Amino acid sequence: MRCTYCGNDYKKLSREHVISRTVLETAFGKSNTNIARSELWGNKPLKDHEHIVKDVCAECNNKLSSIDLAGSDFVKKVLGFCDSTNKKLKITKEALFWIVKTHLNFLRVIPDVETKSCYKLDSQIYKSLMCRDASVFKFLTLCVEGWEGKKYFWDRNDPRKIPIFSYKSVRFPFYNMVVSDLVIKSVDTIVFVPFETDYSNFGERVSKVIDIMIHDYGFNPQTVDPHEVLRSGELSIKNIRSHQSLLGIMKKIG
Ligand SMILES: [Zn+2]
Repeated sequence: MRCTYCGNDYKKLSREHVISRTVLETAFGKSNTNIARSELWGNKPLKDHEHIVKDVCAECNNKLSSIDLAGSDFVKKVLGFCDSTNKKLKITKEALFWIVKTHLNFLRVIPDVETKSCYKLDSQIYKSLMCRDASVFKFLTLCVEGWEGKKYFWDRNDPRKIPIFSYKSVRFPFYNMVVSDLVIKSVDTIVFVPFETDYSNFGERVSKVIDIMIHDYGFNPQTVDPHEVLRSGELSIKNIRSHQSLLGIMKKIG
C-alpha cells in the first residue's frame, strides 16, 4: 500500500480520523461518538465524522502531528463564539495547513456521487503540505464564510440544533471543479480543487463556480489570500451569511 504523502510502499498504513482525534477531543471531550453530520446542498445521505483514512505511513503521520495540535488550538478558538461577524482569528501556519489537510482527508474518503470514486489530487499538494510550503495554494483555492450564528444553533438541548462540524463535497461537472465544504461551528471553510487534476484556467473556473454558489445556493464566500494570512497571522472574516439565510441550511443539516 502506498502512503499518500511520501509515496513509499508499506505493508501496513496507519489509521487516522478524518478530523484529527486531537481536534475531536478538543471539541467534544474524550468520549465522543457520532458528533457531526452534513447536508448543505440537497437531500443526500448524511455523513458522520467517524470516518477513518488509512493511507498514511506512521512516519508521515508523525510528521503531521504538529498540524493536528495547531488545528486543535484553532478549533478551540472557533468554538468560543457563535457569530463570526467581524472576527479576526489568530491563525498559525500549521493551523492553516490543518484546514487544508482536513479537506484533503475528506476528499479521499467520500466518493463522488456519480463516479462512486474518491477524488484524485495532484501529488504535489501532499508534498507541499508535508513541507508546510505555501505553494500548496497554487493547487487549490481556499475560501471562508462567516455565519451570523445564534447560540441556539449549537445548544444540545434545543430541538433546532445543528452539528458543530459538517462536511459536504460536490462536483460542478461543467467546470470540472470539486468543491469541498467544511463548516466548523460558525466558520465555513471551502476548498476548490480541479476534478481529475485538470488545472487549465483554474482561477477563472473557480470564479465561475463561486458565482454559481452565490446566486444559486446563497453562499457568500471570500477568497483567502494565504500569503496575507501567513504574513499577518490573522484570518479576518469579512463575508457573512446572515441568520435568515442560515435558517434554510439548518433545516437541511439539523
Ligand atoms: Zn509516508
